Amino acid sequence: MVSRLGLKLLALFCLIALASPGLRAEEVPLSTLDLLKKLISIDTTNPPGNEIAAAEFVKNYLAGFGIAAEIFESAPGRANLVARISGSGKREPLLLLGHLDVVPADPKEWKYPPFEATVEGDYLYGRGAIDMKSLVALEIQTFIRLKREAAKLEGDVILALVADEEAGGKMGAGFLVDQHWDQVKAKYVFNEGSIGFNRKGMHLYPIQVAEKGVAWMRLTAHGTSGHGSMPSRDNATVKLIRALNRLAKQRQPLEKTAIAQEFLTRLSEQFSFPRSFFMRHLFDWPISPIAVRFFGGTLEKEKILNAMLRNTVVPTVLKAGNKTNVIPAEAVAEIDCRLLPGETPEAFREKIRDRLDDPDISIDWIQENPASESDFHTPFFDAIEGALRKNDPQAVVVPLLSPGATDNRFFRAKGAIAYGIIPVMIQPEDLEGLHGKNERVPIPELQRGEKILWDIVLSLQTESK
Ligand SMILES: [Zn+2]
Repeated sequence: MVSRLGLKLLALFCLIALASPGLRAEEVPLSTLDLLKKLISIDTTNPPGNEIAAAEFVKNYLAGFGIAAEIFESAPGRANLVARISGSGKREPLLLLGHLDVVPADPKEWKYPPFEATVEGDYLYGRGAIDMKSLVALEIQTFIRLKREAAKLEGDVILALVADEEAGGKMGAGFLVDQHWDQVKAKYVFNEGSIGFNRKGMHLYPIQVAEKGVAWMRLTAHGTSGHGSMPSRDNATVKLIRALNRLAKQRQPLEKTAIAQEFLTRLSEQFSFPRSFFMRHLFDWPISPIAVRFFGGTLEKEKILNAMLRNTVVPTVLKAGNKTNVIPAEAVAEIDCRLLPGETPEAFREKIRDRLDDPDISIDWIQENPASESDFHTPFFDAIEGALRKNDPQAVVVPLLSPGATDNRFFRAKGAIAYGIIPVMIQPEDLEGLHGKNERVPIPELQRGEKILWDIVLSLQTESK
């Protein structure tokens, strides 16, 4: 029994708690559309990022529902927000991850100002409308709903909204994992990395379970400098061109990975014979060469698929000489190589060296890290697949090995199982807005995305739905 004095003290304590900043009486949540509009209107273009403005807004918004969030700055203004709703501890934590920064947008190229969040018909336009303030908004709403409905969680759900993803993530996810691992440690990580899209009527939902490694190299051809009027065989520029030509002529072979095989097997079910057969057996000798011939140039035209099937080598930067009549002593090219799981940057560099077969060309690293992958035979993958199917009966769910990198790699390096998909479905033409102009999201999809994310979290972290 509580004494009268106890009751009075309790009442007083409640009053203080309600009056103290950050712990207001429960507010009504914004609609997801309004929340996304608000997030878009906070300009977090990276560089410089300035994610603190968005993080402070989210912190206040969460406080309105009695959720305390902490902000960790990796540098002034580079904010990373972390909040947690605790479960009983029976299951391991799930982390909802998102990045607050966006890539630059040139207003002159846009139909509507990129940071004004304009609605036209069924679309919301703005930088970050998809990448990735859309999923950030869904994650925040899910998090608040868990709290409001006092969901009986068996495992913690953590929310981490980070800085700097668009510039490599070192000030964001990399920083959190390095410096505050205890705050974000989780068995499962849900993040961006892919998106559902309508492909000629097929509702394709690729779940990113791995991403290719990076091997950026600088090739330097060495020669003898001299006057342009007196040619010599020892010309660095000519050597570099010869080297690049050798690389360009080489087609990287198809390499089988478990992910690509599963991707093709699942996708093949959507097609009839013989296409389905060749898809399934693309890697299988002796069918493989016939299958490649069957698909003709389409394997290369499908850029994402092509990137999933082989290592890639792409020359991007060239520098040689700065005066027409001077032969330079050096000529430099930078190449962007992306590697499948199983291929190490070191071993791949040796392959490039063998291919060039020229002692006058040195190869230096610009950046290198191996591919990162998570097993896709997990209850987490099943939970995502189940939620997608439940909310879209036509969903075709496949594992994806993505050509580009996301923050998932930092968590995979720590042993977490990290997957990426923004759980909305867009049209192929909407993909152009990602890092491009007129980025937009179909508004009705936000609602569906919210249901999907809710179902994922509940099926993974509670006993029953
Ligand atoms: Zn992104």
